[in-house]
Amino acid sequence: MFLLLAPEIGLEIKQYYIFMIPIFNWKNKRVLIVEDEEVNLKFLEAVLRKTEAELLWTDNGVDAIEIVEREKNIDLILMDIRLPIMDGCEATKIIKSRYKSLPVIAQTAYALKGDEESIRKSGCDEYLTKPLDFEELLETMNKYLAD
Ligand SMILES: [Mg+2]
Repeated sequence: MFLLLAPEIGLEIKQYYIFMIPIFNWKNKRVLIVEDEEVNLKFLEAVLRKTEAELLWTDNGVDAIEIVEREKNIDLILMDIRLPIMDGCEATKIIKSRYKSLPVIAQTAYALKGDEESIRKSGCDEYLTKPLDFEELLETMNKYLAD
């Protein structure tokens, strides 16, 4: 199934630019978004809305750990790396030490190459670079969310 997404992410369609992306249904899935920049959060919300996944959100690593502990049934975490209070690598390490099978998809800006090694060591399952390619993001998430 395909869906026209462009208006939802606020892109101006001056000509017939049509963004066709595959839509997955994750109706009973819960995704925790850990992201401190509003524009990135809005992007993720727009891309994920049609999947019907339940979205939880926090802007820092400490709260992310707390939410995982409290909610118990998170299916996947989208983890930004540069975060206030506790960064995404540190938070991922702690979460993975307690919930080994909980998938964590890390994201960081392409320019921040120095993050790569610490991201790999953190134990995250996947690592995507920003700006995110929404098709790649959805395909990557589906590896862990498909029934
Ligand atoms: Mg950030």
